[in-house]
Amino acid sequence: MSEQNNKKNAVEVENLYVEYHSGGQVVKAVNGISFTLEKGHTLGLVGETGAGKTSTALALMRLLPDRVSHMRCGVIRLKGDNIMELPESHMNLMRGSIISMIFQDPMTALNPIMTVGDQILEALKIHNAEGLSKEQLNRKVDEALELVGIPASRKNDYPLQFSGGMKQRVVIAIALACSPDILIADEPTTALDVTIQAQVLALIDVLKQRLGMSMIMISHDLGVVVKTCDDVGIMYAGELVEYGSVEQIYGDGPHHPYTQGLFGAIPNIRSKSRRLTSIEGLMPDPTDLPKGCKFSPRCAKCMEICRVTAPGEWEQDGHRIKCHLYGGYTE
Ligand code: SF4
Repeated sequence: MSEQNNKKNAVEVENLYVEYHSGGQVVKAVNGISFTLEKGHTLGLVGETGAGKTSTALALMRLLPDRVSHMRCGVIRLKGDNIMELPESHMNLMRGSIISMIFQDPMTALNPIMTVGDQILEALKIHNAEGLSKEQLNRKVDEALELVGIPASRKNDYPLQFSGGMKQRVVIAIALACSPDILIADEPTTALDVTIQAQVLALIDVLKQRLGMSMIMISHDLGVVVKTCDDVGIMYAGELVEYGSVEQIYGDGPHHPYTQGLFGAIPNIRSKSRRLTSIEGLMPDPTDLPKGCKFSPRCAKCMEICRVTAPGEWEQDGHRIKCHLYGGYTE
C-alpha cells in the first residue's frame, strides 16, 4: 500500500482471516478478505447471518475473544497504523478515540446498574490524555448527550428509564464521546422497533456528516445501504464475493450470482427500503466449507469447475467479483 493511499484511507485490510476454535472444531468465519475505507466515506457490509460481517468488525476493533479466536492478516491499518503490530495498551487507547463501534443491541451494550452519564464519563476518562478536569469532563458528558438529542438533565437516569430508541441514542453517545475518526455500526437498528429505526439511522447519518467520520455500516437492509453508503462489500461464507461503489453494484445491476439473489425480486432498489429476500438453501457450515466456490451448492449458474476450483477475483475500475463467470472462463 503506497504512502499516498495511507493518507487517503481510514481503514486498509489485506487478507484477513478469522477462525474460532471450539470443541475440536475450527469455525472459518472470515476467509481472506481485503478492502479499504476512504476517509469520510461509508462502506456497507451486506450479507446473511453467518457471512462474517460482525467477525470482521470485531477484528478491526481487535475485540475477538483471545481464548477461542485466531486472527491472521497481512495488514489491518487504521489511519496508517498497522494494529496487528500494536501492543494491547496502545490498542486500548485507539478504541474509542480512533475507532468506535455501535453494537446491535442497546440492552446488552449498556450497564443496567450505572447511570447513563457515568457510562459516558467512563469512556471519556479512559481517553483523557489532555488531563481534563472533573468539570470539563462533566461538560463533555452533557455535550455527548445533547449531540444525540437527549437533554443533559437526564444524565443521572438509569438505562431502564429509557425507551429502546433512547437507549440506542445513549450507546451512540458513548461511541462518539471521544470523537472517533472511524465508526462501525453493526446492524444498529436490528433490536429496535420499526417505527424508530429510521430516526436512529438518520441520526447516525447526520452525526457522521457533522463529525466528518469514516464509517462501516453493517446491514441486512439493501435500502439502508444504498441511501447511506459510498461503497458496498457483499459477504458470503466469510468472503467478499462482490465489492465496489454503490453506483457499480446498484446502478449497473449486481453481477455476482449471490448479489443477484440478494436483490431477488426487488424491481427497483432505489425506490423502497426492503429486507433481503431469501435465497434457496442455507449458508454452508463454516466448519466444513464446500470445496471450490462456497456459493456453488446454492448457485443456479453453477458450472462443473465451480465445485472443484475456488474462483479468483475479477477486477475492473475497483469493482471486484469472485466468480468463474467473470474473467473469461467458459465451459
Ligand atoms: Fe456460481 Fe460458479 Fe460463480 Fe460460484 S463461481 S457464484 S458457483 S457461477
